Amino acid sequence: MTTDALKDAFFKIYGGDADPIFVRSPGRVNLIGEHTDYNDGFVFPMAIEPHVILAARARDDDKVIARSTLFPDKPVQFSLTQPITTGKPAWGNYVRGAVAMLKAKGVPLVGMDCLIANTLPPGGGLSSSAAMEVGTSRAMLALAGETMDSLPLALLCQKAEHEFAGVPCGVMDQTIVAAGKAGHAMLLDCRTHTPTYAPLGDDVTVVVVNSMAKHSLADGEYAKRRKECETGVAYFQKVDPKVIALRDVTPAQVNAAEKALGDLTFRRCRHVVTENERCLAFAEKLKAGDYTAAGELMYASHASLKDDYEVSVKELDFLVDTARTLDGVYGSRMTGGGFCGCTVSLVKPAAVEKFMADIANIFQAKFGKDPVRFATKATDGAGVIGT
Ligand code: ADP
Ligand code: MG
Repeated sequence: MTTDALKDAFFKIYGGDADPIFVRSPGRVNLIGEHTDYNDGFVFPMAIEPHVILAARARDDDKVIARSTLFPDKPVQFSLTQPITTGKPAWGNYVRGAVAMLKAKGVPLVGMDCLIANTLPPGGGLSSSAAMEVGTSRAMLALAGETMDSLPLALLCQKAEHEFAGVPCGVMDQTIVAAGKAGHAMLLDCRTHTPTYAPLGDDVTVVVVNSMAKHSLADGEYAKRRKECETGVAYFQKVDPKVIALRDVTPAQVNAAEKALGDLTFRRCRHVVTENERCLAFAEKLKAGDYTAAGELMYASHASLKDDYEVSVKELDFLVDTARTLDGVYGSRMTGGGFCGCTVSLVKPAAVEKFMADIANIFQAKFGKDPVRFATKATDGAGVIGT
């Protein structure tokens, strides 16, 4: 939806004369570094073109009223002067959470009328949840005439996701959504919460393909993987008390501990420690413009997620295996937590159109579904945009 169309829709709902402001909040895709964030490791995401966009205007009372074009019959309403708690509709928890965290920080807020539209699919593994939290926060801050740096804002929004959505996520999603930079991916050290921006040249294109897979197991499996990593950490801590997370363990140490760890814990640990190395190596290869080597690291990441971490599914494997056979593809892997969601591929710009058409046809022939797909540049993180 254009900002003009959104403005029209906003006035139809809320009336009044004063123009709303617009906040664009992007989704994200992670190029490499999967299941490393909660192990104090490294990730390499970028903010993408699909986004949520909020039209927002200050009210002269303490009410926050939010509507989404996705749920036109389910507005969200609460008061800034009452305790903010989770409730129905469920989508409102992303708004409530973000506002509650700003309020808890003591930020002086004002009431808001808000209408949210999106090009970012909800629940598609591209972090629409973080886009909602960070976008809402940016709108509330702007209306109140307050500022906040992106990194502390990301931490507040992560807390909102934990406490209001019940998802114990790492720090990656909210950080890239809040602090993304156009034309750049972000190497993020999840221990120190320090981003380093890496330019993404015009000579390479990022393509996202949705596996269309739906696997309800995913939630329990995420918690299980986190436990399995903790089991690994407990072992290495006994050997070396300085170990706080798998971040502090090398592949050589994991290999040496194969018998002691047992097959399952060994493979989980091996994924995390090798994935951290791949993520750092990927940053170097990208800097050097060596997309072939960067792409091989993506394939290796996928193999590790499939075989050692066991979070892939046949649809994701098929997309990656197919990408390998197509022209102009440097690398491909599942992205996100796994079990469903998308693959991300690095593709030569001239090959992108054919790549997207071919992979869709081949996937359709196998699974009978037309996979949602798009090419995207890296964009800025969430912020107020002009009309
Ligand atoms: P993901 O972050 O991978 O997109 P989540 O399950 O974490 O998936 O978050 C999706 C939820 O976020 C949706 O179920 C909905 O509650 C909320 N959401 C996302 N986009 C919107 C939107 N445009 N309007 C209202 N709610 C949204
Ligand atoms: Mg999410």
